[in-house]
Amino acid sequence: MRKAYDTFLQSEVSADLATKAGSFEPYRYECAHCGEEVRFAAVGSNSMVPHFRHRSGNSDVECEYYLGQYRAFSTDARSRKSKSERAEFYFDNNTKMFYLGLRLSDDEISDYELRSTTFELRTMPHAAAFYSLRINGRNFSPDVQRMIPIEEFSYNYFLSNTLNDVKRKYEVFNNARNGAPTFFKMQIGDRDYRAKLVRSSVLYTNIPYLVVYQSQYWVPGNVHLPNEINIESSFKFETMGRKFLGKVLTITSKTAQVDSLLLSWGYQLEFSEELTLLWPPSPLVDESILVNADSAYLFSTFELQAQGNINAHSQDLKKIADGISKVPVRSRTKVYRKNAELMIEKREQASDSYSAIPVARKVSRTYIVQDDSTFLFNRSGVSHLNKGMAVLLTPESEIRHFTFGYLDGCVTPSSHDALAGDLLLQDLLMYYKRKETFKWDDYESLELSQTAFQYIESCEKSELINSAAKCFIEEERI
Ligand SMILES: [Zn+2]
Repeated sequence: MRKAYDTFLQSEVSADLATKAGSFEPYRYECAHCGEEVRFAAVGSNSMVPHFRHRSGNSDVECEYYLGQYRAFSTDARSRKSKSERAEFYFDNNTKMFYLGLRLSDDEISDYELRSTTFELRTMPHAAAFYSLRINGRNFSPDVQRMIPIEEFSYNYFLSNTLNDVKRKYEVFNNARNGAPTFFKMQIGDRDYRAKLVRSSVLYTNIPYLVVYQSQYWVPGNVHLPNEINIESSFKFETMGRKFLGKVLTITSKTAQVDSLLLSWGYQLEFSEELTLLWPPSPLVDESILVNADSAYLFSTFELQAQGNINAHSQDLKKIADGISKVPVRSRTKVYRKNAELMIEKREQASDSYSAIPVARKVSRTYIVQDDSTFLFNRSGVSHLNKGMAVLLTPESEIRHFTFGYLDGCVTPSSHDALAGDLLLQDLLMYYKRKETFKWDDYESLELSQTAFQYIESCEKSELINSAAKCFIEEERI
């Protein structure tokens, strides 16, 4: 299968681009047809292109057939076929506790609620659940993490629900020998930070991690680490009946010594990527940046790749300069490559009383300007109108009135289209009184209609012509 659903990007991705995007975490990729978990196959192979296979090993002919067809990649989060929870584990520095963050979509919540499903958490596949929670709209908000404090210690946790009873195993605390710590990736915030469990085996240089050592009976002793590992702080805490030692650290460079230490703990080290939002300035709320615009400018040390590391279509991505790209902002735009992770959400325009100013709409052919905050919009642009002016509105023109820069009034002409010829001329003469000097020269080059010709003849005698009628004749609309 050449494509799969990426639960991190919340978009379909292609196998060859996704393999370049970095790490592989359990439960990250799912079959785009049946929703079963898939894994990469033939990565780095010379004879086969990278592709996805069902993790269970069952090669479902239907999935292969379905995904073998040419089909566009969907960047819609709702194209997900699996209904499994999306789970991540966290450490919260405020409470000094570990949490399971559970996220379900709108469809998933209502589907489970309809079937009275309960989420369950276990330390062993066949043990009784030590935590359970009904899945419904009261306990979960769509796509918002529900944080569940973990009160029982286990190296692994098993997540399931009463509907399908498939136990998904998550390895949480590092069970490797020689006192291996567990790594959590720090998230933004100073004192009250939250750190997310690193579920892949890859760590990156120059980004802060929280590591925890745990022991059942005594506080883990201080460990000597190589100089390339910079320790910012150390602290002790107790939770789940265990004693923990926590350290905030950064791995500053990749050396043989660091590599071998990390390898003995079950991790490998790679160089990190950078990813920043340049424009517009936007607030960070929880894990998302709220952007009040249709597009945003990003700086990245890697190439943004549709269906690879961003959930957008390639035609919507625009490379501005080296490292700088313009990306569309939809309800949720995600970029994910190696350590670099960014979620942008479209912020709805704040609906305060100012943007809710009612606009007084009026239909009229003529308008006497009430004050100086009035403007005429027409095909030749915008012109400022002065108080007391009488304006004749031509088709497609419009008068707009502003108060403190906010539109609060609008005058559009009644439809001239219904009127034509003689009737239109009579209408103009009736509503518009301004006259100007008549000169035959103005009309010599025009092909005059019967109505126009007769009117002009009458003007010749008075040597005056109605300005509106003149305008309509010049535009050959009478
Ligand atoms: Zn499948």
